Amino acid sequence: MFNRVAFVTGASRGIGRAIALTLCRSGFDIVVASPEIEKNEEVAEEIRACSGEAMTLNLDVTSPESVKAAFGKTMQDKTRIDVLVNNAGITRDGLAVRMKQTDWDLVMKINLNGAFLCAQQVLPGMMRNRWGRIVNISSVVGQAGSAGQANYAASKAGLIGLTKALAQEMGSRNITVNAIAPGYIATDMTKDLPEELKQKMLSSIPLARMGKPEDIAAAVKFLVSEDASYITGHVLAVNGGMYM
Ligand code: NDP
Repeated sequence: MFNRVAFVTGASRGIGRAIALTLCRSGFDIVVASPEIEKNEEVAEEIRACSGEAMTLNLDVTSPESVKAAFGKTMQDKTRIDVLVNNAGITRDGLAVRMKQTDWDLVMKINLNGAFLCAQQVLPGMMRNRWGRIVNISSVVGQAGSAGQANYAASKAGLIGLTKALAQEMGSRNITVNAIAPGYIATDMTKDLPEELKQKMLSSIPLARMGKPEDIAAAVKFLVSEDASYITGHVLAVNGGMYM
């Protein structure tokens, strides 16, 4: 009997870290991948402390070479990747009229192109194994739009399109591809938002609280489980009801 292997991008902190820890508790071997190896090692230590298997890798999803090298190394060491969670993501907010081309490009490169490059790396192995799960971490902003986030909204809406296209291409191989659209989650990404904006967002959430990274991790755990084997091409909102 083998453990299934889950590769989580942007796992050094925030939502990615919670996903890595949750999947390890569900019996997956985890690949913790993000640009800074020291930060990945801290998460890997937490995983090992709860008797899980963790491997760490430098991964910059903006670089096709880095992506190839990271997935190549994983296949060398683990021989299989059963689950890919495309979680790496950034914001570079600003009104569209003044947005710098570099801010548009970087957000698209990390949030959307990066997810595509990573998916391309795992699909051949999943097709051979006739089993695979891909979960793309999109956003409520990709569904509803958001003033001041044209780049981010476009990248996250793009992820939803990518999810549905891959789900259609891969269904016959028993590979499911789904997206999660988190709402307002307490991580480094949201901690410096202006107080006024935080209060406005909170007032629009029926469950009247910010989400926790673990709320997203629980949804990932479900989507990669056997219980979700007949769910593909779905966008699961985990947003406290802020967008319905
Ligand atoms: P954080 O800013 O806390 O973490 C982002 C992660 O992405 C870090 O691990 C970071 O690595 C990694 N990363 C950044 N650039 C790259 C890169 N070029 N290659 C690989 N990894 C990279 O964000 P969150 O945990 O809040 O967000 C995780 C995901 O959830 C993102 O896709 C985000 O868009 C999405 N999301 C978040 C929401 C929220 O409210 N927080 C709401 C909706 C969606 P490093 O530590 O080295 O910087």
